[in-house]
Amino acid sequence: MESRRSTRAKGKATANANTSADLPGVQDDSYVEPAESDELPPPKKRRKPSTKTPKSKLKSETVNSSRSRKGKLRHLPEMPLDILFEVFGHLRPIDLLNLSRTTKALRNILMRRSAITLWKSSLRSVESLPECPPDLTEPQYAHLAFDPHCHFCYALCSQNIYWACRLRVCKACISEHFIESREVEALFPNVADKYNWATTLLPSIRIPSRRSWERRLSPRKQADSVAQTLKELINDSERLNAFVIERANFVVSLNNHAGECERWYAEVGDLRSQELADIRRRRKEAILKRLEGLGWGDDISKMNKQDHETFSRQHSVKQTRDLTDRIWLNIKDGIIEFMQDLKEKRLNRERRERIHLRQKVVKTLLDQYSRTRPYEEIHPGLADVCLMEDFKKVIDLPEDAEVTEASFGECHVLFIFDHLTCRTFVSILTSSIKISV
Ligand SMILES: [Zn+2]
Repeated sequence: MESRRSTRAKGKATANANTSADLPGVQDDSYVEPAESDELPPPKKRRKPSTKTPKSKLKSETVNSSRSRKGKLRHLPEMPLDILFEVFGHLRPIDLLNLSRTTKALRNILMRRSAITLWKSSLRSVESLPECPPDLTEPQYAHLAFDPHCHFCYALCSQNIYWACRLRVCKACISEHFIESREVEALFPNVADKYNWATTLLPSIRIPSRRSWERRLSPRKQADSVAQTLKELINDSERLNAFVIERANFVVSLNNHAGECERWYAEVGDLRSQELADIRRRRKEAILKRLEGLGWGDDISKMNKQDHETFSRQHSVKQTRDLTDRIWLNIKDGIIEFMQDLKEKRLNRERRERIHLRQKVVKTLLDQYSRTRPYEEIHPGLADVCLMEDFKKVIDLPEDAEVTEASFGECHVLFIFDHLTCRTFVSILTSSIKISV
């Protein structure tokens, strides 16, 4: 089979035949799907086996399940191509990519030249996705746009897509596979003075830095390749100028396409965020409905904004999966425990608010009394009055009891103040002064 890369590269090589390093188009090996023999599929997360299941049983189950899956896939390539393509025509680019990594036979089918229509239609089915750029094959473009793994170490790095560099790179790989612009210039200083080629002949990314505002980096492999070509052409000014112009134009086209991709990716991100928010909202509403069915309706209606926010942040609530009977069974106990805790906190909060309101009534009474007394007279504070037994009884009345100034009528406010509290207060004060003297 003729590899995709060779077929695509041939077409592009014609345009770039005037250089020795496959430039200005990006024909960097790292952008190409690995060849059959050296394919390294991205690592997949392995599920932790349950400690309750015996290891031998688990092993046999895994083998059986793996065999049954392999058995199904084994016969797939034997189907007529037109039927296969009909079926594959309904797959998303990432599904085609993953399928091509499952077996050599499927890889042969999906990476052959005749499968290009399949890839094209799959990419076209992705809403608003910019066209596949001429410097990438469709599988390479799908790999860049949809495979969430680092192109170098296969670690998950879903957010770090450097479109202009045609790379997805994790943080750890950046220092190894990228080079700072000022270092790039040092690679070929004679030309650097003339063309400032680090910025015009290479795509670059900007990374925030602690030491300065940001670091400007370019893919190391491309930098080496461009440097090599420049060295080869340094004594042939005509070809050198032609190369520099062509390469600079190519970088402009990379940046333009990268801009389109970034806009598309941001839109997709917004839509996805909205989708996830909708799923979370649906799940929360479903959980609240189940709780209402269990008699928590009154407590739910009394939840304030903060309670709702805390509820939404619960691990079992914020998941992006719709609620099912099975999920509810698994999370029910934890949710009920949370609701009990929430109820206790709410009752405490309501009690504090109730006491505060009733203390305000006492304060009004105290203020009214104070205004009738001589200026120099010592009066008890609000806390002293509220702790008096008769006042405390009224303040601690059940929540449904309405407490007004009249409610304290039985407490003989003035009498208590005049003949008991003030005298006691003053005597305590005087005795404490005596003690301290
Ligand atoms: Zn990496």
